[in-house]
Amino acid sequence: MQYKRSSALFAEAKKYIPGGVNSPVRAFKAVGGDPIFVSHAKGAYLFDEDGNRLIDYIASWGPLILGHAYEPVIEAVTEKAKKGTSFGMPTAIETELAKLAVSMVPNIDKIRFVNSGTEACMSAIRLARGFTAKDKIIKFAGCYHGHADAFLIQAGSGAVTFGSPNSPGVTQGTAKDTLLADYNDLGSVEKLVEANKGEIAAVIIEPVAGNMGCIIPEKEFIEGLRKLCTAEGILLVFDEVMTGFRLSRGGAQETLGIDADIVTFGKVIGGGLPVGAFAARSEIMAYLAPEGPVYQAGTLSGNPLAMSAGYAMLHSLNSKPEIFESLAEKTHYLHQGFDRVLTAAGIPYQVNRFGSMISVHFTAEPVKDFKSAAKGNNDTFKRYFHGMLEQGIYLPPSAFESYFLNDALSYQDLDETIAALEKVCPLLT
Ligand SMILES: *Cc1c(COP(=O)(O)O)cnc(C)c1O
Repeated sequence: MQYKRSSALFAEAKKYIPGGVNSPVRAFKAVGGDPIFVSHAKGAYLFDEDGNRLIDYIASWGPLILGHAYEPVIEAVTEKAKKGTSFGMPTAIETELAKLAVSMVPNIDKIRFVNSGTEACMSAIRLARGFTAKDKIIKFAGCYHGHADAFLIQAGSGAVTFGSPNSPGVTQGTAKDTLLADYNDLGSVEKLVEANKGEIAAVIIEPVAGNMGCIIPEKEFIEGLRKLCTAEGILLVFDEVMTGFRLSRGGAQETLGIDADIVTFGKVIGGGLPVGAFAARSEIMAYLAPEGPVYQAGTLSGNPLAMSAGYAMLHSLNSKPEIFESLAEKTHYLHQGFDRVLTAAGIPYQVNRFGSMISVHFTAEPVKDFKSAAKGNNDTFKRYFHGMLEQGIYLPPSAFESYFLNDALSYQDLDETIAALEKVCPLLT
């Protein structure tokens, strides 16, 4: 494949935008080479500036669960735009989306819309601190909750990819209030809770992790976490920016059967427009301004275009919940194909899968936390990534990211992907 125009566009972008991109992982630093510039996309396919067609396994990093340029979303946004793009005043569509989201997700009464997953998680933590009148939080190594200061402590994906788990610019003062535990290791949480008795406001977790590859929570771990938080008066925050409206109508809470105290959303909830949200039962949400004392605001929050896209997306998912099942089946099919090909080739690997999230790790050991994810062979991953790209398959350009399947992918696309892996295998040994 030729990427002449993408490379030229990247060179031009680098003159005016730091690193040529507006979010680091897009720059291909972890895998080498120049990033691909997209011209347009439809369904399961990306079309780049050089005219190549790629089968897309990122779906804008998760939001486009029904495929690119999904008609109901495009129509909703187009119609809304004709009536004005922003007012900074209340609109009816905000309540419609709130009502729909609250009806789909268990255990939440009220929801506040923001503009990104980062904002959602940052605000959820402020709310948890305000509600509990405590300062410290616990997060897990390899979990990503956006780029707010408090979270840039072993933050997974982007941050890990660049070998800078602790970013310069994050103060010691901020870092000291973020305690770090290990995923799937309840003991590591218990120790922190014991050593910081009565000081912890919240534990924030990706209930199914997607920012160190796809990592599945062990049952005893996630159940134990819930019990521990309840016993200690700590709020359990589920960061469902990735899993919300992806694993099921109700997200990880519903799928895992665990109630969280605060839930954050992003990605799917915006249907491809910039939306984030956080939600909880009324008692907690009542602490939020203007009802309560915890401040949080946004000029473009609840933006009508973004709300209409989110509404069209959630409405589709709500009326066709069998989509989650069929997506999980497609993901299982891909998993089986990858198993077949990689086993036959004798390449050490792990495939982790949950619902429509899946990741491939080039290591012989099970991947269940950040440490085991980091053991993956990055050299093999680079060859795998570029090999698949050459076959027209677009995978996340980092070994620390989950793939997101979308409903537009056909079984023929999946077969094409498995056949591509067969061609790439000789490069991996
Ligand atoms: C993507 C992501 C975020 C951050 O969302 P942005 O919209 O990129 O700010 C937070 N948490 C998780 C789990 C995510 O996957």
